Amino acid sequence: MTGGYQTWELMTTSKDVEGRTDPLANGVRGHEKIASYTPDSPVKETWRKVIDGERLRLHDQLLIGMFEEIYLSGHPDLVIFADQKPKFVLEFKFSAKNIPSAWHHSQVGFYCYLLGEMGFDVDKLPYVIGIFPPDSHRSEALRKAPNYILEKFPFRRESMELSEGKVKFVAKLYDHPDTVRELSWAVDYWRGVRDPVPTKIDWKCRACFASDICEFSLA
Ligand code: SF4
Repeated sequence: MTGGYQTWELMTTSKDVEGRTDPLANGVRGHEKIASYTPDSPVKETWRKVIDGERLRLHDQLLIGMFEEIYLSGHPDLVIFADQKPKFVLEFKFSAKNIPSAWHHSQVGFYCYLLGEMGFDVDKLPYVIGIFPPDSHRSEALRKAPNYILEKFPFRRESMELSEGKVKFVAKLYDHPDTVRELSWAVDYWRGVRDPVPTKIDWKCRACFASDICEFSLA
């Protein structure tokens, strides 16, 4: 399904990648590698530090909120906090594409929305989507990406060389009305207001647990 909000797609993001070599599995490994550079700390202590105004990088931290009567949650790749505010939301993709897809922007907009729901100021909150070469999930150079983004910002587009190829970064400001429109469209499916819209992206169907029974499957 399209949009990144609907259950079946969320369920395809399984982290069980043992023995798999497909792009999705390599993407999971890349995210795990980036996460390994950020020390874990207990949730309560982490949010206490954020409220105290410490400069902090939160990786894969659970965010929660509501849209109308529906509870929502998400795990952004990285949120950088300082002065009691989110300063950047960073999302990393492992793909041969040159630019982020519309649904990548939808996904990050959704994380920004959740931060707003949690009471943070998200007005003019910048986010950056990094498109990493598919084979860079093994690269130790992944650890450089967050600092590189912070050094180069502000930018609309930037790139960074890895031995596996170029990492492309695209920056935008969170657009709250746009995200509310998209959430409203997504929620209309759960309200029974509209039919589901099948994805046009074949790899999503290949990774989808429902591909054997879905009449729209491209797998
Ligand atoms: S098989 Fe494809 S179209 Fe059908 S639910 Fe899964 S991702 Fe969506």
